[in-house]
Amino acid sequence: MHLMNNYNRQPVAFTHGEGCYLFDEQGRRYLDALGGIAVNTLGHAHPRLVKAICEQAGRLIHTSNVYRVREQELLADRLAGLAHMDEVFFCNSGCEANEAAIKLARMYGHQKGIDLPAIVVMEHAFHGRTLATLSATGNRKVQAGFEPLVSGFVRVPFDDLPAIEQVAVNNPNVVAVLFEPIQGEGGINIAHNGYMRALRRICDERGWLFMVDEVQCGIGRTGVWFAHQHAGIRPDVMTLAKGLASGVPIGACLTAGPAADLFKPGNHGSTFGGNPLACVAALTTLDVIEQEGLMARAVVLGDAIRGGLKTALADVAGIVDIRGDGLMIGIQLDRPCGELVGRAIAAGLLINVTAGNVVRLLPSLIYSDADAKRLVDMLATLIREFLEA
Ligand SMILES: *Cc1c(COP(=O)(O)O)cnc(C)c1O
Repeated sequence: MHLMNNYNRQPVAFTHGEGCYLFDEQGRRYLDALGGIAVNTLGHAHPRLVKAICEQAGRLIHTSNVYRVREQELLADRLAGLAHMDEVFFCNSGCEANEAAIKLARMYGHQKGIDLPAIVVMEHAFHGRTLATLSATGNRKVQAGFEPLVSGFVRVPFDDLPAIEQVAVNNPNVVAVLFEPIQGEGGINIAHNGYMRALRRICDERGWLFMVDEVQCGIGRTGVWFAHQHAGIRPDVMTLAKGLASGVPIGACLTAGPAADLFKPGNHGSTFGGNPLACVAALTTLDVIEQEGLMARAVVLGDAIRGGLKTALADVAGIVDIRGDGLMIGIQLDRPCGELVGRAIAAGLLINVTAGNVVRLLPSLIYSDADAKRLVDMLATLIREFLEA
């Protein structure tokens, strides 16, 4: 084995998938409640996605951003329309989308005459593993060993308005705020709508860019295209990746208002970013979400899964909280529960544990009601056995 040892891998490998099920090398079937970490929006082997990718691969996979790319123009128009934003830069991953956002904020600051621009970021945030994005991440484990970190980030507690107001008074170098409307890796922590609206107002008053990382919570998962839309606000910068193309690598950084028109030719780029294959996969993903009503389904399924778990686990000691929005679900226990991942695999279920004691579910949006019920039954049994052991 010549793979670098940078992942804690489970001892299972899959050969194929169908809908929300995966099949391993022994032919065993698993209910997938992780969806490749919020990536497989349409589940596995969705016929429309497979067809679109195959047809595009037969036409054109990659040219270059040296030329016009029609599929990229179409996807940019589509995303800008859904998000009410002005411009889109395409890359290949979430950390790259956030790198673009960070560079935009710095350029914005320099244009305002701020030589050492700072970006407000949150505790328990996750923004990626590149040097700038791990510096923006609010988790020491992600940063340890990689110092010196990139400077220019100011950290505050999540969903805490007075903390932001204090920074506003004390730090004239701040040019932007970057946060996840729902923190994923941090344990499914939801920013209140009132907080987001107040933050929007502070950004307007101060001339800060309001930047949302929707890499995990975006693309229909919470019942709206983008989670910040629950608060009825528009960001200046939004980053996307994970679920955007249902598994084909893609990232996007969208801008509006004061954040639009900042980059000029030569300021930023990506060789692969926005290639025809990835853009067609994203356009197809968006079409299917819309035409099959999957955002409304995400709400119904999320309510059913959270409600079902609450009922099934009502008499079990050790459940701290069952929370989430749509198909972004966290079950917080009163103790570390990483071993649940392996136990679930043994039972034929794929889940994740984050922040040490939060079982995280990020199912695809194509679950049937019966799949959701199966997930509740399997998971409730596993959690009960674990807590009562
Ligand atoms: C996963 C994630 C990232 C990083 O995305 P990569 O594609 O792994 O670089 C950034 N932000 C959030 C909120 C994420 O969940």
